[in-house]
Amino acid sequence: MSETETKSKHEYVPLKHIVLTSHPSAYAGKYIPIQWGAESPKARGPVVASLSNQVHRNAIGSHSGSYMVYRALAVASGKLDPEHRPDLTHTHPSDEIGPFSSWCDPKKIVAIDPWGADVGQHFTEQLEEGYDIRPSIAVTKAHIEMPELREAIQAGRVTPDGEILKENGSCVVTKAAIEPVWFLPGVAERFGIDEGTLRRNLFQHTGGMYPELITRPDLEVFLPPIGGHTVYFFGDVNQLHDPNKRVACRVHDECNGSDVFGSDICTCRPYLIHGIEVCIEEAQKGGLGVIVYNRKEGRALGEVTKFLVYNARKRQEGGDTAAQYFARTECVAGIQDVRFQELMPDVLNWLGINKIDRFVSMSNMKYEALASAGIEVNERLSIPDDMIPEDAQVEIKAKIAAGYYSVDEIPTEDQLLDVKGRDYK
Ligand SMILES: [Zn+2]
Repeated sequence: MSETETKSKHEYVPLKHIVLTSHPSAYAGKYIPIQWGAESPKARGPVVASLSNQVHRNAIGSHSGSYMVYRALAVASGKLDPEHRPDLTHTHPSDEIGPFSSWCDPKKIVAIDPWGADVGQHFTEQLEEGYDIRPSIAVTKAHIEMPELREAIQAGRVTPDGEILKENGSCVVTKAAIEPVWFLPGVAERFGIDEGTLRRNLFQHTGGMYPELITRPDLEVFLPPIGGHTVYFFGDVNQLHDPNKRVACRVHDECNGSDVFGSDICTCRPYLIHGIEVCIEEAQKGGLGVIVYNRKEGRALGEVTKFLVYNARKRQEGGDTAAQYFARTECVAGIQDVRFQELMPDVLNWLGINKIDRFVSMSNMKYEALASAGIEVNERLSIPDDMIPEDAQVEIKAKIAAGYYSVDEIPTEDQLLDVKGRDYK
């Protein structure tokens, strides 16, 4: 019997019966085992997280991060054939990245699949045998236009060269989208916890979303339902292989309110723009610029928590002050930050970067995570004072007091009380 009955070309009847994959005995020996960190893609084996053939699956979870829920909705509503396999013709990367020695080190990369971009090249044999192997990384090219870059040209902060930065302010980039692929034993080790504790908590605190985390210890790879990363490169990606090339880098965690809508309560978009300007400058001098954009909204606590905290900050006695900046987040969320920079260096290891000449970030957590991963950071660049919105002084002063890198003096507790943000008006 066919797995789906086709009603019409664009309407499918979803399956009525459920296939439970939580019993290892039914699958033992039927899938390709993953040898994480093995010396070649052939020895490592493909990550098979597609759902078109349950027997072939060698990972927990599925592709597209949180968007897998929309795919499920599309199937539930009869709009998507659950057996659809992507036609990957012409989808391979616009630029070849790697391989680097870090790809074959089971400790250096634990949160992305280094071989996830060109599955057609790395896993030809298995694809021909009928395995539904899908990319978890896509690499393409783009021209980006940001009004601030045109302003930067007018102000003389950057100069068009016609190739990397055009006269009209448009900038030529290579970009990569990366989905999270977690090697659970490696992730556990990175946090200094045992794998069982990690699996149990991932299961329990997603409302029991993935029973295989508990019942299938034979599956060590998990594609979690979270956002991933986007990398924007400025300059020639092929130069990543040259260890002597200078690298400028900003690691930026998503902030929709500022990044897209220009909210002035924080420094996110201005700092991102500063990072891009530094990247352009480095690329024009023959080096490389790298912006890593992580989907970790509101310190990975989410935007609802973030807006609740904004209200709590503005309504507290004495108004919004730098002195209470972190305390208010902790009141609402129980913790100040869940971005866990421990996993952040994986993207840089995927790019084979082991030295950053100019790091456009003040975050001590990011800096320490890079140091722990053996990535050398030379110069650290704080955001220029004239790029800080007035209302964002609360954030920046609180961060400097908490240990963020700055050339400015560390504010005293009294000074923090004097740094005040706007009320609602
Ligand atoms: Zn922000």
